[in-house]
Amino acid sequence: MPDVSISTFSGSSCALSEDDISALQASLRGSVALPGDPGYDEARTLWNAMVDRRPGLVVRCAGASDVRQAVLLARDRGLQVAVRSGGHNIAGKAVCEGGLLIDLSTMTSVTVDPKSRKAWVEPGALLGDLDKEAQAHALATPLGVNSTTGVAGLTLGGGFGWITRKYGMSIDNLLSAEVVTADGSILRASEEENSDLFWALRGGGGNFGVVTGFEFQLHPVGPEVLSGLIVHPLEDAKTLLPAFRDAANSAPDELTVWTILRKAPPLPFLPEEWHGKEVLVFALCYCGDMAEGEKAVAGIRALGNPIADVVGPHPFVGWQAAFDPLLEPGARNYWKSHDFLDLSDEAIDTLLNAVANLPTPECEVFIAHVGGAMSRVPAEATAYPQRSSHFIMNVHTRWREAADDDGCISWARDLFARTQPYAVGTVYINFMPDDEDDRVGEAYGDNYAKLAEVKKKYDPENLFRLNQNIKPS
Ligand code: FAD
Repeated sequence: MPDVSISTFSGSSCALSEDDISALQASLRGSVALPGDPGYDEARTLWNAMVDRRPGLVVRCAGASDVRQAVLLARDRGLQVAVRSGGHNIAGKAVCEGGLLIDLSTMTSVTVDPKSRKAWVEPGALLGDLDKEAQAHALATPLGVNSTTGVAGLTLGGGFGWITRKYGMSIDNLLSAEVVTADGSILRASEEENSDLFWALRGGGGNFGVVTGFEFQLHPVGPEVLSGLIVHPLEDAKTLLPAFRDAANSAPDELTVWTILRKAPPLPFLPEEWHGKEVLVFALCYCGDMAEGEKAVAGIRALGNPIADVVGPHPFVGWQAAFDPLLEPGARNYWKSHDFLDLSDEAIDTLLNAVANLPTPECEVFIAHVGGAMSRVPAEATAYPQRSSHFIMNVHTRWREAADDDGCISWARDLFARTQPYAVGTVYINFMPDDEDDRVGEAYGDNYAKLAEVKKKYDPENLFRLNQNIKPS
């Protein structure tokens, strides 16, 4: 076998001999995949079809020991290294061109202890894996709204979804993590052990090492929750959105209402004449007592003249996957995101003017409703600092043909620029596209300096830099 050429961070390449590859394989429980090998394409393919990179070498890890071997090889030879779990990050930094890919996607086990209400989760587990195992005991922890997203990347960035207002962000429920750091150590991070690392992992992304296990606190949820969609004509949005804002501002923690502005997909419960027309969708979930929930959602359900209202009791696991059909992998995607403390009438008018010309049937603007328990954690308690925003907008541009790249990306940037005057200026790292490296400082605000210190301690050479990168201080 000829030498395998792997890209390094210095820009040169490093030759790995057949003996090097054999020694690596012999040290692993998992496997090595070179271009053309089984599993190579699976490992390098991400949710966002805009990303098409070919690593020089993939280590398909089966455990922390495999990760350690890969990290030591990368460190000793100066190899460019990327870390992939669920493969959903919009920026696509989970795969490198020519370098070493640490692939965790086959490490998917989830173990639940119903007595202590805790779960131990491997990094390749998807949200649906954790939800299903936890819901077998009518338990859950806050995650996101698409069940095929990776637990690892979501949690390391912060993580919020349908039960965040009640139980906090994913990071607020993280009890400990197992981490392989840049020097090959396998550390436990928690409030008691390596607490600086534990602080940094809760929002600091992939900067501090490779997380090989997550321990979460679980809470009683469901197994059914009052949830569903209410669909309105977009032309009524000018009156609906201020009413939604007011309802959201006084909602109990159990109630979360996200708003989606888009062209109607051909959902079976929508009259055919509405398919492809512009609509406003309220997607809501009440994660408490059903009868209390009916009272809490009554105000939102009474608004306007909906085209459809399919709110009712649904299995929590099903509701967690409700958006999956609209978010399947394989499309081209570009996102832009703002945090808002509130949605003024002016901000709503600007947003509605900007959203009038949705460029493709799959483009949408999501307005996530957050706050509640998430906002009661001090900004400096975890690396994720933005605890006071009440709405997080994600311009979710999605299309199929490369010929539409420029038009769709310009549309997203224009909407982002027009709504910028009303935003806080911070951003959630998990919603940042790959051209926003200059926003990493905004993402962390006052927490950046401490993050840079922790980075210097655990990754002084910046081995883990294919991420929303924090430079060692
Ligand atoms: P990957 O692409 O595998 O990883 C992302 C990055 O995280 C990597 O580049 C690496 O730097 C780092 N990383 C991954 N695994 C590890 C590890 N084990 N150790 C160290 N570093 C690691 N977010 C929300 O909070 N709420 C939502 O409701 C939500 N909905 C989403 C819906 C869709 C359809 C998509 C595509 C994304 C959504 N997100 C949401 C954003 C999501 O949180 C991020 O995309 C997240 O990064 C995905 O994690 P992953 O493991 O799938 O990503």
